[in-house]
Amino acid sequence: MSDLQGTLSEIVAALKAAGDRGKVADYIPELRTADPEMLGIAIAYIDGRLLSAGDASQAFSMQSVSKVFTLTLALGAFGDYLWDKVGREPSNEAFNSIAELERAKGVPRNPFVNAGALIVADLLLGSHQPRETIGEILRFVRFLADDGDIVVDERIARSERQTDFRNVALANFLAAFGNLRNTPERVLGVYAHHCAISLNCLQLAKAGTFLAKEGRNPSNGYAVVSAERARRINALMLTCGQYDGSGEFAFRVGLPAKSGVGGGILAIVPGVASIAVWSPGLDAHGNSQLGCAALERLAHCQGWSVFGAKP
Ligand code: GLN
Repeated sequence: MSDLQGTLSEIVAALKAAGDRGKVADYIPELRTADPEMLGIAIAYIDGRLLSAGDASQAFSMQSVSKVFTLTLALGAFGDYLWDKVGREPSNEAFNSIAELERAKGVPRNPFVNAGALIVADLLLGSHQPRETIGEILRFVRFLADDGDIVVDERIARSERQTDFRNVALANFLAAFGNLRNTPERVLGVYAHHCAISLNCLQLAKAGTFLAKEGRNPSNGYAVVSAERARRINALMLTCGQYDGSGEFAFRVGLPAKSGVGGGILAIVPGVASIAVWSPGLDAHGNSQLGCAALERLAHCQGWSVFGAKP
């Protein structure tokens, strides 16, 4: 274990010295100020041990990593009905592609592209007030991380709503195809707020551990989801979690993972641990450049892959 602590510190030091850190997302004005020099990593083992290195205690914007948690909640409430409204196939275009949604006649490719996550937000909203639904999502993440300090960053939510023209278009397309129950405005409010949940790598790694432990929350043994559902969420993360960069990510890292444009990535080593990395510079697909590189190095060192053991 202490060896792994040394490995983590080495990975962070080597990557912090790297030249190309990618590009910080600037289409949400409040995200522009993130520092691309930041790099944090945390590992939460299913037996409760925690390891971290770099800027692992620094809070960042969860963005699309939150879609893992909204999907989990929606599957709990709606089960397989959800799959009538959203697909389970990888996407071939950017996470906010309008063309892809039009071609699919208003049924998003998967729950992790923006259109799919809007469907999930709409289901969770049901006939509640947006504030209640946002509160429910936040409570769920806090419960999973066993940490009441996780918050929604209202500034980021507001900032996203001021410039979310593409998401407005996607929500209106969904409504035009009869695939939304609530008005686009209400759904977009819930969506922007769950994307604006702010936490650090240690908190995120803990929140994801149920996916490494057959659906059970390690801190209290509570079954968050069945083992089968945990496997399926992991399958969706592997095939769709990095959008149109998912194939390359599976090739390089070999673990189910979900990224966000805040620079966070949650990765799962089934039966072993949950890993959170964060560095705000993004690659062309909107995935953390150093975060992917850190996961690639860590998975390689540890022999962690869902595709086979280290020779
Ligand atoms: N809130 C962001 C958006 O809608 C989330 C995108 C992401 O993290 N990939 O554009």
